[in-house]
Amino acid sequence: QLADSLFIINNYARDYFQETLFNSEEGQSVGLSYFEERGFTEETIRKFQLGYCLNTRDTFVHTALAKGYNLEYLQKTGLVTIRNEQPADNYRGRVIFPIHNQSGKILGFGARILGKHDRAPKYINSPENEIYIKSRVLYGTYFARHAIDRQDECLLVEGYTDVVSLHQAGVENVVASSGTSLTQDQLRLIRKYTNNLTILYDGDSAGVKAALRGLDMAVEEGLNVRLVLFPDKEDPDSYVRKIGADAFREFIAENKQDFILFKLHTSLQDAGNDTQKKAQLVNEIAETISKIDKVEDFTKQQDYIRQCSQLLKIDEQGLVQLVNKFIR
Ligand code: ATP
Ligand code: MN
Ligand code: MN
Ligand code: MN
Repeated sequence: QLADSLFIINNYARDYFQETLFNSEEGQSVGLSYFEERGFTEETIRKFQLGYCLNTRDTFVHTALAKGYNLEYLQKTGLVTIRNEQPADNYRGRVIFPIHNQSGKILGFGARILGKHDRAPKYINSPENEIYIKSRVLYGTYFARHAIDRQDECLLVEGYTDVVSLHQAGVENVVASSGTSLTQDQLRLIRKYTNNLTILYDGDSAGVKAALRGLDMAVEEGLNVRLVLFPDKEDPDSYVRKIGADAFREFIAENKQDFILFKLHTSLQDAGNDTQKKAQLVNEIAETISKIDKVEDFTKQQDYIRQCSQLLKIDEQGLVQLVNKFIR
C-alpha cells in the first residue's frame, strides 16, 4: 500500500524531471547541455530516463501537490524536504539519475550537482524507505541483466556515470555499487545472473580496499572475482571516452586479473621482509581459500592452493592443512 504510493510518486517524478530536461528552457540550457558535455547522446539519456530538477525553491513540490500527491509520501521519497517550515525541492539545480529495480520500477534517485561542488555534496541519493533499501540495490541492473546473463559476466563499477557511459559504448553487462562496499544481498543479486564478477575500480581508489574487505564474502557466495585496475585519475567513464569503445574492451580483456592472487601479490609487497606480517597474510589467504566451496569447486580450491603456495614459497601441504583448519 505505502510501497505502491512511493512507486507512483517516483514514477511521476521521473516523468516530470525528464519533461523538464527536454522541454523547459532551463532544462535544455543547463541540464541537457551538461549531459551533452559529458558525451551522453539523446538515446542514452532517454534510455536511462535521466532528468533535471529546476533550480527553483519548490516548483516540483507545488506541481506534485496540485496534482494531489501526498506531502508526507513526497518527503518519504526524499524528493521533498521541509525548509523554513515550507516544502522545498531537494534536488533543485541537479541532474537526475532514476534508480530502477530489476523489473524497471523506480526505487529512488541519484541527483548530481552541476559544476563545482565545494559546499554541497556532489551526489544526493534518496533516503532509505519502504521501497529503497540500499544494500539490496545495484544501479543499472534493469538495463544490464540480459547482457550479464548472455555474457556470463558482471562488470562492477563505482558510479552512475560509469554505467551510463559504458552502455553507450556498447558494454552493457555493467552495474554500479554507487560508492559503497558490496553487501551480501548485492552479491546474491549478481549470482542470480552469473558466477563471474569483474570489478572495475580506479587504481588508487579506496574502493579497491573496500572491495578487498568483501572478497571473502564474494568467494563464499561462489563468485569468481576478477579485478581491472584503471590508470591513476581515470574511472571507466573517463577512460572509455578517452580511448574509445574498442580499445576499452581490449583493455578490460588484457588487464583482468584474479582477485585472490591480486590480494596475495599486494599483501606480499606490503609485508616485504617482515616475517610476522607474512605469517599473518598466509593465514588470511588460507581463510579466503577456505571459503571456496570444496564440494562444488574442489579443483578450483586446489588450483589456488598450488598457485598461492608457489607465490608464498611455502610447502603446498602446509597450506592445505591451514586451509582445512578454517573449514570446520
Ligand atoms: P562524476 O563522473 O559525475 O563525477 P562519479 O560516478 O565518477 O561521478 P565518484 O566520485 O567516482 O563519482 O563516486 C562514485 C559514486 O559514489 C557516485 O556515482 C555516487 O553514487 C557515489 N557518491 C559520490 N559522491 C557522493 C556523495 N557526496 N554522496 C553520496 N554518494 C556519492
Ligand atoms: Mn572516485
Ligand atoms: Mn568515479
Ligand atoms: Mn566519473
